[in-house]
Amino acid sequence: MAHLGTENAFSVITKAKKFEKESGINLVYLQIGEPGFDAPENVKAATIKAVQDNQTHYTPTPGIPALREAVAQYHSKYSSTPYEAEDVVIVSGGKPVMFYMINALIDPNDEVIVPNPCYPIYESVTEYLGGKVVPIQLKEENGFNFTAEELETKITDKTKLIIINSPQNPTGGVIPKELMGQIAEIAKKHDLWVLSDEIYDQMVHDGEHVSITNFDGMPERTVILNGASKTYAMTGYRLGWGVTKNKQMAAYLEQLACNDTSCVNTMAQYAALEAVTSPDTKPAVQYMLSEYKKRRDLMVDLVNEIPGMTCHSPKGAFYLMANVRQILDKLGITAAELCDRIMREAHVLILPGTVFGQYGDDFVRFSYVSTEENIRKGLDKIKTFIESVY
Ligand code: PLP
Repeated sequence: MAHLGTENAFSVITKAKKFEKESGINLVYLQIGEPGFDAPENVKAATIKAVQDNQTHYTPTPGIPALREAVAQYHSKYSSTPYEAEDVVIVSGGKPVMFYMINALIDPNDEVIVPNPCYPIYESVTEYLGGKVVPIQLKEENGFNFTAEELETKITDKTKLIIINSPQNPTGGVIPKELMGQIAEIAKKHDLWVLSDEIYDQMVHDGEHVSITNFDGMPERTVILNGASKTYAMTGYRLGWGVTKNKQMAAYLEQLACNDTSCVNTMAQYAALEAVTSPDTKPAVQYMLSEYKKRRDLMVDLVNEIPGMTCHSPKGAFYLMANVRQILDKLGITAAELCDRIMREAHVLILPGTVFGQYGDDFVRFSYVSTEENIRKGLDKIKTFIESVY
């Protein structure tokens, strides 16, 4: 257990709730990592109907055939080879795909190249399973990407897996097509696996989503991680999927899922089927996406008005990393200490970049899922606070 990490974003909420209880002050939450909307109405109706239709029993471990087929079609749009239902394993959220894939692949001392800063669970699971995390820095000046040359320098004869996440949490970075192609070439050249976390695939605000499976030879060495949580605002349904053209890997994912959960909650699968296939879902998704884009533009403007804080416009997901190095140096504090002061003195909750890895130390992460009113309120409070100390 000593090797297993956690998602500190959750412990920050516990600290914030304690602060609110003790102080009687309500915080403005600008750290939230989930959609600021409820699940679409047709999805909720499908969930209720599934219960009424007595879809209350076990399903096959890898999921109901119609949902596997729908997910296969969904990912075929982005892939060089069409996917089929048997390539899809439905699991309880995006997270289990990390756990199962890394579990299936990694032996002690195998190396896993992990972007940094990044979603912390890749690292946690790799270390728990005895693997070695090799961090690769996502540089602000490259749109929070690494370069192909930097990736090559990280590869050794122990490297087994590269993890990529585009659009990315926490930076909002998107891997451009050219770099994606170069990563694919490197993976093939060195015979490596790729875990491609595409959970924010619909949230590309500038340009288009490119999957690494778009490149020949990649669907066989890639597991796509995706799910209903972000696109359809269904985080509480706990429904995700792993997709791979490698039959052995698909079988391993299924075997691990069978040992772990038997199958995913049946009504959630029917709800996800509605979400993925029904034309009624589209307007809700489009509304959410257009709102995120508006809120992103607002937040970029407001962050750049704060002395000592700068950010570029993030291309995807719903996160924004602001560079606060000047403030940290001037006050002689860390990003974690700055966020703590912003919580206690400005009454706004945001996350230090270090929650996402060592290379997050110049940054704080905002999310722009909150309402326009909350974004204005929170950033106004932070601005007043920074102006008073900077
Ligand atoms: N991958 C990334 C990059 C995420 O940010 C998250 C959740 O925040 C997940 C995966 C997990 O998704 P889920 O809630 O479906 O398990």
